[in-house]
Amino acid sequence: MGIRLDEPLHKAVGDRTAKVLRTGLSLDTVGDLLRHYPRKYVKRGQLTELAELEPGTEATIVAQVTKVSRRSMAARRGQMLTVEVRDSADTAVEITFFNPKAANALKPGMLGMFAGKVGEYHGKIQLTNPDFAKLDADAEDNDVDNWAGELIPLYPSTGGLPSWKIARCVRMVMDQLDADIEDDPLPRPVRARQGLLTLTEAFRRIHRPDDWPEIATARKRLKWDEALPMQVVLAQRREALKALPAVPRRRVEGGLLDAFDAALPFILTGGQRQVGAEIEQDLASEHPMHRLLQGDVGSGKTMVALRAMLAVVDAGGQAVMLAPTEVLAQQHHRSIVQMLGAAADVPLDLFSEAEAPAFDPSRKRVKVALLTGSQNAKDRRVNLLDAASGAAGIVIGTHAVIQDHVQFADLGLVVIDEQHRFGVEQRDALRAKGEDPPHVLVMTATPIPRTVAMTVFGDLETSILSELPAGRSPIATHVVAAHEHPSHFTRVWERIREEVAAGHQAYVVCPRIGEAGEGNAGQETSDDGSELVSDPGQARPPLAVVEVAAKLAEGPLKGLRVGMLHGRMAPDDKDAVMRAYAAHELDVLVATTVIEVGVNVPNSTVIVVMDADRFGVSQLHQLRGRVGRGKWAGLCLLVTESPDGSPARERLAAVASTLDGFELSKLDLAIRKEGDVLGATQSGYRSSLRMLSVIDDEDVIRAARDEATPLVEADPELTAYPALARTIAVLLDPERAEYLGKT
Ligand code: ADP
Ligand code: MG
Repeated sequence: MGIRLDEPLHKAVGDRTAKVLRTGLSLDTVGDLLRHYPRKYVKRGQLTELAELEPGTEATIVAQVTKVSRRSMAARRGQMLTVEVRDSADTAVEITFFNPKAANALKPGMLGMFAGKVGEYHGKIQLTNPDFAKLDADAEDNDVDNWAGELIPLYPSTGGLPSWKIARCVRMVMDQLDADIEDDPLPRPVRARQGLLTLTEAFRRIHRPDDWPEIATARKRLKWDEALPMQVVLAQRREALKALPAVPRRRVEGGLLDAFDAALPFILTGGQRQVGAEIEQDLASEHPMHRLLQGDVGSGKTMVALRAMLAVVDAGGQAVMLAPTEVLAQQHHRSIVQMLGAAADVPLDLFSEAEAPAFDPSRKRVKVALLTGSQNAKDRRVNLLDAASGAAGIVIGTHAVIQDHVQFADLGLVVIDEQHRFGVEQRDALRAKGEDPPHVLVMTATPIPRTVAMTVFGDLETSILSELPAGRSPIATHVVAAHEHPSHFTRVWERIREEVAAGHQAYVVCPRIGEAGEGNAGQETSDDGSELVSDPGQARPPLAVVEVAAKLAEGPLKGLRVGMLHGRMAPDDKDAVMRAYAAHELDVLVATTVIEVGVNVPNSTVIVVMDADRFGVSQLHQLRGRVGRGKWAGLCLLVTESPDGSPARERLAAVASTLDGFELSKLDLAIRKEGDVLGATQSGYRSSLRMLSVIDDEDVIRAARDEATPLVEADPELTAYPALARTIAVLLDPERAEYLGKT
């Protein structure tokens, strides 16, 4: 029987080498080494382009020796050997050996591989004391030749361990493998159905390929080694959640929800109705709902969530909605209370006359409590008590506060709103709030690509709202290049004045808060706001709300009612400003990204984003979603000083070119690093992903999910597939395994 993948390396390569592999590359087992895949391959005869070497990096190069010279060193005893090597473009690099004996084998005309740290000496690239191996066909003891065919694998390597020494270790291990490794994590039926290589053959092809197609088939198989365990974990989690008990919250006729629906000033979209029905069915189940609701900005997710909450209240339970920011929690509270009208049990003096209850008071009422970190102690105490006693049917608050402080009498539903990343752990913490696990509805702020949904949120069922409510107005987006077209920049402020003159409102967003009074007191302001733009090429800090608001109010927007909103303001002040803006007591709101998600003032028709290049693609899409929410067309102006043709400008152009949030989120992910996508909570997966790309390998991930689901349904403990079970146990560190075990 051949060697096993979980065998420690010293059994296969000896103690000394095993120690180097462990200290240098953190490789402990046979499997670790075999999954240390080549970084790239060089074709025999193809020389490394020496002009591309970068000082400070570790490199393995293939080059021809052109000169060898030996000379005595003045300062030290002994000799020094200087070797010149060249690539096919005739670029030369100097290699210096301080222990010439070791380099005796090097002769002009010889082809070799050299591995070491790239340095710089007198402005010239050089390598010092690199490891090397001869590549000549007739050389004896030719490691590289013995090992590789046409394609020579280059491994990620460290100082003491050049690529070909790793290759030699891999060869030693491979010679001891069975043709069909016993602990192959992929079940045989899966391999057969998907047409995947055996693991031994995949290792052979990735480490010692004959040609490129072999590498491609090996990669496909090895991606499955990563995709399947991940999807099995998620399927197990789905199964475990499905098995939990939950209090069914069946729809009650003639309750709050019916009254609410009857009074709705618009008709629900087809998607809202369909998702509503799905949720209704989930809520009536004796097992908790775990659903992800995706929809583009403005698709009406909050409406879906509110209807679900009312259904739960009708059924006698409590519902909680968590918002990522205080501004959003306050707005949700305000708008939900307003939408509920007289059915909401809150003091009506909270509202102006214009906001008076929208529909006939029903006999039923629901108390809506708000919980945020900055509430005064008294309000907070009352609200906490209402949540704990069950007096409050709906509780709205920020994640932080609710997670840490709130107890409920009978929590039936948790809605997590507008969350970019809300990991498994946080969901678990919330679930622990109810006696029986509550139903959970997660809503994303921005649509996310399917593959990401299948990994980050892979334990949830997914619903998508694909249409926007009728009567949505189009939004035009333009990039305003402040330097290149100063007149366009001036026009920005004219546009705002025109919209305000027509009775509308505008947002101006800046990347920074700024210091009140910092440097701008007594400064001259011109009428066109041109001092908001720096001289070309002159670096300046990002524009700040405090300064921009002051300059606009004194300059280009003089006479308009300009307000300001940012995270450093006292919470009561924030709420007051948001209310004033919503009540049209302000014309223009200069703000940071506190308005990024969810803020809903349909009378706003323009949003100007200053230093737009400082924001991410999804963030800009979110910000843009603040306009076009009413009957009027929206306008989004992305002001930037980044030069034409720069990556920043291309990103902005992409945002301007489409309103499709799914498309933009793909672009956003392509720009950001994969690790960011998976988030900190997925670190266990992240470190295990070598071949698989969450962004690019949609087909593999989808197929793996389709294989994993029935596999886990039939055999949740994977008793028939011990190798797969072991792979998963290793994948999930003890901590992870623990929280997956709990519900
Ligand atoms: P998001 O999905 O971005 O959270 P919201 O739930 O905030 O979207 O909805 C945006 C706006 O659309 C709100 O003012 C909401 O009242 C309104 N809305 C929701 N559903 C409909 C509908 N079916 N028809 C018309 N307007 C709707
Ligand atoms: Mg929303």
